[in-house]
Amino acid sequence: MTMKKNLAAATMLAGTMTALSFMSAGAAQAQGALVMYCGVQEEWCRAMTTAFERETGIKVSMTRKSAGEVYAQVKAEAANPRADIWWGGTGDPHMQAAEEGITDEYKSPKMGELQDWAVRQWEQSKGRTVGIYSGALGFGYNTDLAQSKKIGEPKCWADLLKPELKDEVQVADPNSSGTAYTLLATIVQIMGEDKGFEYLKALHKNVNQYTKSGAAPAKAMALGETTAGIAFMHDIVTMVVDKAPVKVVAPCEGTGYEIGSMSIIKGAKNLDNAKKFYDWALTADAQKLGAEAKSYQVPSNKNTPIPPQAPKLNDIKLINFDFAKYGSSAERKRLLSKWDNEVKNLP
Ligand code: PLP
Repeated sequence: MTMKKNLAAATMLAGTMTALSFMSAGAAQAQGALVMYCGVQEEWCRAMTTAFERETGIKVSMTRKSAGEVYAQVKAEAANPRADIWWGGTGDPHMQAAEEGITDEYKSPKMGELQDWAVRQWEQSKGRTVGIYSGALGFGYNTDLAQSKKIGEPKCWADLLKPELKDEVQVADPNSSGTAYTLLATIVQIMGEDKGFEYLKALHKNVNQYTKSGAAPAKAMALGETTAGIAFMHDIVTMVVDKAPVKVVAPCEGTGYEIGSMSIIKGAKNLDNAKKFYDWALTADAQKLGAEAKSYQVPSNKNTPIPPQAPKLNDIKLINFDFAKYGSSAERKRLLSKWDNEVKNLP
């Protein structure tokens, strides 16, 4: 063979191989891929990803972000969506996305196995988001620090305003964090909007840092970096299970709660796989993975055992949280910008 012929043969072979590899990438895209935005703790996101891949052979590309951040990303990508499924995180940005039509309607055959509160979330969003777990908001404190600083035992939201707690309370920023938005909506519902904002302004004096993620204050409490932290009670329980000197508090005035949710992205490129994941994520077996990853929410499938460590919702004074109102696009935008203007930028 001449050198020219050799080169021509090599070029043809390379061309065929490139074409084959494009075809197989295309086939994987069509049959075997799923892009997931995940809103719970990284450990649980990873456990869900691995189990789903093992069960179905579908390759999952997962990104963990806080609830408000996922919403912002899904909104920014709406014209050419990158993700197929948004799993977890508080329900409010899922409800907002549903109202704005950037997520899709779907009725899973698993709906009949779900708790009423999970189905109600689906009905209120006109079939665009569904409840996957629930959990109450609260706060906690590091018992060693509270003792050494003579802070006593805070029991109520009002106790977090004590001057002894100056720079000793940590909470997330409600723009990025679903946990912190749940706090904002909870305080407004318990106290009324005017008194609620007075409370949040007073609380600001004691806040040492507004974190991006809602569970960060629980970790900081466990590490002794802050005396008190506001978070979902189940996120604080995770620290207690890991033997941190932390106490969990269900505030005496009552508290709000979340319905963690799941939505399919409108225009999902792997729609069939998104539906497969959705159906699977509602099964009792998939929901058991939460407790195994030390996430102690109340699962939405009636057949999933409630982890014994999960804070008992019946023992907590829960408010009648208005998910439709506080998940509505206009109300969420209004409250967040009011919080930015009146609280966040105070000295
Ligand atoms: N982690 C857990 C275990 C949760 O239940 C939730 C809320 O659904 C979050 C984190 C929310 O995270 P963030 O407040 O960072 O949006």
